[in-house]
Amino acid sequence: MHGSRNDVPQPGANKPGNDIESENSASELSILRDVLRLLPNGVTVQDDQGRVLLANDAAITQLQIDANAALPQAPRRDAALEAFRTGQPMVVEESVDREGGRQVFLTCHQPVRIAERDVLLSSSADITGQKAFEDHLFRSAYYDELTDLPNRRVIEHRVNKLLTAEDTSGFALAFLDVDNFKQINDYYGHAAGDALLVEMARRISLNLRQSDMLSRISGDEFVLLLHPVQDQEEVSEFIRFMLERVKAPFFIDGSEIFASVSIGVSLYPDHGRSYDALRHNADIAMYRVKNAGKGAAAFFDDSMEQEVQARMKVEQSLRLAILEKRFCCAFQPKVDIRTREIKGIEALVRLRDDLGVIQAPGTFINLATELGLIDELTHLVLADIVRSIDLINDTFGHKTTISVNVAAKQAGNREFMRPFAEALERTGFPKRFMIEVTEDAFVTKSVFQDEILPILREIGVGISIDDFGTGYSSLSALADITADEIKIDRSFITDIHKRPRSQGILRAIESLSEALGMTVIAEGIETHEELAYLQAATKIRYAQGYYFDKPIFLEDLKLATPPRSESRGLLESRPAQESRSGYSRAPGYRR
Ligand code: C2E
Ligand code: MG
Ligand code: MG
Repeated sequence: MHGSRNDVPQPGANKPGNDIESENSASELSILRDVLRLLPNGVTVQDDQGRVLLANDAAITQLQIDANAALPQAPRRDAALEAFRTGQPMVVEESVDREGGRQVFLTCHQPVRIAERDVLLSSSADITGQKAFEDHLFRSAYYDELTDLPNRRVIEHRVNKLLTAEDTSGFALAFLDVDNFKQINDYYGHAAGDALLVEMARRISLNLRQSDMLSRISGDEFVLLLHPVQDQEEVSEFIRFMLERVKAPFFIDGSEIFASVSIGVSLYPDHGRSYDALRHNADIAMYRVKNAGKGAAAFFDDSMEQEVQARMKVEQSLRLAILEKRFCCAFQPKVDIRTREIKGIEALVRLRDDLGVIQAPGTFINLATELGLIDELTHLVLADIVRSIDLINDTFGHKTTISVNVAAKQAGNREFMRPFAEALERTGFPKRFMIEVTEDAFVTKSVFQDEILPILREIGVGISIDDFGTGYSSLSALADITADEIKIDRSFITDIHKRPRSQGILRAIESLSEALGMTVIAEGIETHEELAYLQAATKIRYAQGYYFDKPIFLEDLKLATPPRSESRGLLESRPAQESRSGYSRAPGYRR
């Protein structure tokens, strides 16, 4: 311990007494010295010039005191001088920069008078670890770990502060959402998705001012505060450049990834006077951009609010329709184009709205998916099929396959697909079912490919790729897809006889599917010319389309047809008529 050879008064030093007493005092003193030396806290005694009169081992290390100097100096401690000046004890945090990083101490400075000298007694506890932990807690409460951006609480707090400031200048709040982020994640993997977000955040942050703030509020959503702003043009200009930066390719893990963001902007005070109102309206503007094709920006305006109200109404009636199970299926046959034999049927869901009018899925499927109602709806479709199975068998035969459409979003969701597969098995005839999913569900490394497909295979359910040619995958991606059937989208089939380019594509899909053992179905045949082309120029055997049959309500068939015992595997080519109030049976239909 340093200091014992200096003139610091020692415990018991001027106590009078006999030899035994002084012997005792000496041994007490030596114990005290050892105790002081071994204390885990740093202890120093300094004079009013900051010179160290006494320092224990911990203090020597903490303050890096040169213990061999005649009158060692402690590093400059402002708080120590202050304590001396005021004569009051002080507790402060002190830090020392070391090679291994900054060390932090909690120090108590206590001015005392000992042996008629004013000295400062200081004791320091090392709280570096605790501080690091507190910093970590602070950062994880307020900062996003991946991008290091402040989180939603921070930006909300910042905006609220602006709103309560005396002289609030105008500002803009932009809501940014990465387009198709889920697909990017599914296709390139989560690590690449994360790297993309980090780089995206960097590009968005470029050219921000000190007073602006970018925050990541959830997975692929960011909120940007631009403050102050003079007018809308200023913001438009800034965002235009940002959109350009984001559109440039990202190079991640050897892949060139293209991405974009959709941005909605609201301005204070025109579009709201609270964080929630501004955020909500920016959100509405962002959704407008998403629906209009993504990768752009829009400012909020009042007409958007009305649109949202109208949508809310549709939403409410859809929820009610689900609750009241006002859904049923129309069935459309898949036909052998040479024999007209029915290979299978596809269940197409219909909604009976509040007024009893039948609505096609185009008006509600996307909304149902967005609202998380699609799973329930798909179970209703299956229930309808099970309920109608006798009628299905009577009308189309016992061997026809029965196709059910599953949205790509559902296909990759094990929480839906596992129970749904179980429900298919419980019908007692799982082998007759086919699941129709769009190619988006098959992107590599997807849950659907890896986990769900094997389960469906196990119970004998067939897999069909719906609307092929309209999604993300390329022809080469087909090689990785294990499906039984591929349905070529109507956009390739319409007027096929007049479109050489579509003919080329059709041939390519056809030969690839043949090599992979997949049955090809042409969707949406409406005219005799289209059919004639398929028959003459391709080996495609199956088709679906109004030319053969429109989707049919079995109930309508039952009502319009006197019962007959023989089941019917063949249909005439006259289409049944679908009307808004349902279907009437075509003259050709018999049971
Ligand atoms: P999809 O699965 O590709 O079904 C074929 C759609 O094309 C059906 O429309 C059908 O009525 C229509 N169609 C068939 N032949 C022709 C034709 O010759 N010409 C024309 N113009 N159209 C034809 P629908 O019933 O309106 O269904 C639209 C889409 O809604 C379906 O496309 C499917 O993606 C989706 N959908 C239907 N039911 C369900 C369901 O239960 N669940 C899910 N997730 N989606 C469903
Ligand atoms: Mg389909
Ligand atoms: Mg289709």
